[in-house]
Amino acid sequence: MSIPVIDPATLETVATVADHGPGEARQAVDTAAAAFRDWSRTAPRRRSEVLHKAFELMLRDRDELALLISRENGKSLADATGEVTYAAEFLRWFAEEAVRPGGEYGSAPAGGARTLVSHRPVGVAALITPWNFPAAMVTRKIGPAIAAGCTAVLKPAAETPLTAIAIVELLVEAGLPDGVVTVVTTSDPASVVGTWLDDPRVRKISFTGSTPIGRILLRQAAERVVNSSMELGGNAPFVVTADADVEAAVAGAMIAKFRNGGQACTAANRFYVHDAVYDTFVARFGAEVEKLTVGAAADGAAIGPLINEKALVRVRAAVEETIAEGARISHRAADGPQTGWFYPPTVLADVPATAAILQEEIFGPVAPIARWTDEEELLTLVNDTEYGLAAYVFAGDLRQAVRIGEAIDAGMVGINRGLVSDPSAPFGGVKQSGLGREGAREGLREFQETQYLSVDWGL
Ligand code: NAP
Repeated sequence: MSIPVIDPATLETVATVADHGPGEARQAVDTAAAAFRDWSRTAPRRRSEVLHKAFELMLRDRDELALLISRENGKSLADATGEVTYAAEFLRWFAEEAVRPGGEYGSAPAGGARTLVSHRPVGVAALITPWNFPAAMVTRKIGPAIAAGCTAVLKPAAETPLTAIAIVELLVEAGLPDGVVTVVTTSDPASVVGTWLDDPRVRKISFTGSTPIGRILLRQAAERVVNSSMELGGNAPFVVTADADVEAAVAGAMIAKFRNGGQACTAANRFYVHDAVYDTFVARFGAEVEKLTVGAAADGAAIGPLINEKALVRVRAAVEETIAEGARISHRAADGPQTGWFYPPTVLADVPATAAILQEEIFGPVAPIARWTDEEELLTLVNDTEYGLAAYVFAGDLRQAVRIGEAIDAGMVGINRGLVSDPSAPFGGVKQSGLGREGAREGLREFQETQYLSVDWGL
């Protein structure tokens, strides 16, 4: 059995991959469990060297990997190339963290005992990744897992398995021993991941994907109290204040909204622009949006297709519903080709604060813009969501920017910046956007357990 990998721009089959089931899922855990003893005892310096070498190999193959990402995901070559660089940086970051597993030595306050605290690899980890960043979501998990001394089984999204397979091949070329990471491709994710969560040898699940699937996996993980990290959906507000530099806000909005064609968990999902600059912002932002070219990456387009037909139908319906609720299309880019799941970048102006689109993850190149005047009312609207991943604030007065930023319930806030992702920063959400952090020192901790020895040396 095999699964076709479809180019969403041309609808051509790029390749096929094996369609695995519970039997192969169990075998992958056998392999990871067998490899754990040696890998967890491998010197941190050696683990670091493998990761560093893999970082160099990813940069060596950057163009090739970018083409692969564009073919299976559809994103522009510029976005794909940027993603490879970003993804490789997680390997470099965790190569540097691998040699700093941490630990503490303490004295019990009552005297007598000493406390030795260490951070040990959690064990076999199940890694589940989405299609929207086929490289970065993989290295953001594999990097810390390997650095910590864990072994892993990895299930990439069915739409984008090729990049994940290519990255694991590069890790093996860099010296990663056989069996430390095994990729399992499947058209039946529930049975593969269910098999892993049922297996007592699997001690960790690290999932990136939608909130509804995250909830299902958390329920399953509860059965065996499996250590869980969840990077889930977002509904990022993009706030522009009355004294913001409108040109800077427009530049930031183009990145926050249209990187990856809007298919990012951190994508600006709803714009709140102060009444004083609303018309200027809509006009300037709209003019930039109209310049965006829509088409296949191979043709040099800035915006690729949506991932599949279901996504296209969903985005189209969300726009129609918002218009029925009183909004208007103020600006729109030219249509893309007829073949492929293209949707033109669209600006929706005069969006009522009650519009459904402001509560849903759009995951497409659509920018709904609402108006605000009162900061308290703005913050109520901004926080009226189950999500809390990213947010953006553009303001001239930095004190106001920080005040608003600190009042937003989100794990990450870009202040006068349209991009928050950085391997050295703790990426993650609050509320139903997730549990735990990736990247930074925190990312390594997600793959470690803390143990202490309480030692009586008779001193
Ligand atoms: P998804 O449908 O939740 O899928 C994510 C992964 O889970 C895929 O590998 C998928 O496999 C697998 N999966 C689906 N159903 C499953 C089940 N019942 N049991 C076990 N695994 C299952 O999400 P998506 O559409 O790929 O990705 C978009 C979502 O990811 C958005 O909500 C976005 O915000 C979120 N995301 C979050 C972050 C973050 O860091 N917070 C980053 C990127 C994306 P199949 O491919 O086979 O369905």
